[in-house]
Amino acid sequence: MTDNIYIQTENNDKLKEECGVFGVYDFDGHDVASTIYYGLLALQHRGQESCGIAVSDTNGPKGKVLSSKDMGLVNEAFTPEHLEKLKGDIGVGHVRYSTAGGSTRENAQPLVLNYVKGTLGLAHNGNLINAPELRRELEYTGAIFQTTIDSEVIAYHIARERLNSKSVEEAVGRAMTKIKGAYSMVVMSPRKLIGARDPYGFKPLCIGKRDHTYFLSSETCALDTVGAEFVRDVLPGEIVTISPEKGIESDTSHVLKPADTARCIFEYIYFARPDSFIDGISVYDSRILAGKFLAMDSPVDADLVIGVPESGNCAAMGYSMQSGIPYGMGFVKNAYVGRTFIKPKQKSRESSVQVKLNPIREAVEGKRVIMIDDSIVRGTTSDRIVKMLREAGAKEVHMRVSSPPFLWPCYFGTDVPARDQLIAYNRSVKEISDLIGTDSLDYLKIERLEELVGGKLGICKGCFTGKYPMEPPAEDIRGDFDK
Ligand code: SF4
Repeated sequence: MTDNIYIQTENNDKLKEECGVFGVYDFDGHDVASTIYYGLLALQHRGQESCGIAVSDTNGPKGKVLSSKDMGLVNEAFTPEHLEKLKGDIGVGHVRYSTAGGSTRENAQPLVLNYVKGTLGLAHNGNLINAPELRRELEYTGAIFQTTIDSEVIAYHIARERLNSKSVEEAVGRAMTKIKGAYSMVVMSPRKLIGARDPYGFKPLCIGKRDHTYFLSSETCALDTVGAEFVRDVLPGEIVTISPEKGIESDTSHVLKPADTARCIFEYIYFARPDSFIDGISVYDSRILAGKFLAMDSPVDADLVIGVPESGNCAAMGYSMQSGIPYGMGFVKNAYVGRTFIKPKQKSRESSVQVKLNPIREAVEGKRVIMIDDSIVRGTTSDRIVKMLREAGAKEVHMRVSSPPFLWPCYFGTDVPARDQLIAYNRSVKEISDLIGTDSLDYLKIERLEELVGGKLGICKGCFTGKYPMEPPAEDIRGDFDK
């Protein structure tokens, strides 16, 4: 970094999802690397720091895994030549954004572990809350870690349990009794593809099928991309084992009562793609509903409803449907800025927010505008966006947010910053409104969160209430291994 060039990570006031996982097993023996590539492209929104693919030939030598991983986006990290070299009919892939473990090439996934029973490839989404203890325990018994991510703790536990288990899936089940926290994972053994979801079901995982090929994916949108039909979601706490001999086998011995499950509600509000379904609920529908609830609970007289692209658009449509106030396009988002770009110099006249987003004067001039966004974290971009709308001639700017105020950290794989950095911490809604310069501001009511998912699914709302589905660690363990 020089004095006057800063690399800016895109949208720095947005929460980041940690990861996306994808697994494929082609029973007809065709290579799967390029299919994993397309699956990962569809999951790119879940992590843009690094990505990787690991494949194996189930008819080849047991334990031979070919893998490739790198920093950057999927289409930057992989070339046709890379994919051509990755020969194998079973494989797992991963896209990553780091919340635990630094952003380095070593920490990219999938992890590949060689041990006496063969080889394991593992890709994992979520954070463990007891990873530091488990890691110390393993280190005292001689384990040497190659990375600083908790996924390696999981891989070690599975490998260790495998020595005393009849099968890999049994070893995964035994490891699940030790690991605590959020995990949706895909595991490749020499002859089986295994998917497992933590008992709370924080992170999504689903099964797909295309002819004789089976898929495991973080989201259904990736199944659509590869032309697979959706078979079903993996249940919270379930282990599924996919093999040509037995098709899909299920172990539900870790499954909790439905009322005790706790899906991350932020998957529906922001992380997942709106064309995905999670546990039977359309992400698009839940965002439209959030907008409708905002219109019912926090109405305001105005001329136009706009969304902050892209994530605020669905809720803005919902607000418009419910209120009858026309929905319009208030901003153009520059689709070519990319993941990182050179941040303008501090004293220069360019603004990094405006580089990415520009209001459409024709649409907002002279109007009373309702602007919908999915969240406010630090508030650092909201004030700039409100100012831009006023400069473009908006007469009034009313902001509605399709999630409740963030007040608490997340320990399960989302990078909610420390409390003192959250704009809502120790401030009233009126104070926040004054800070970001809106005429009025309101958030989605906490009581509405259950309704977003049809009132039937157990959800986590810890970052809004401070009440977590499981006892959080005594101290903030995020990034612990890097200290
Ligand atoms: S604390 Fe918030 S971000 Fe974390 S899992 Fe729960 S709902 Fe999701």
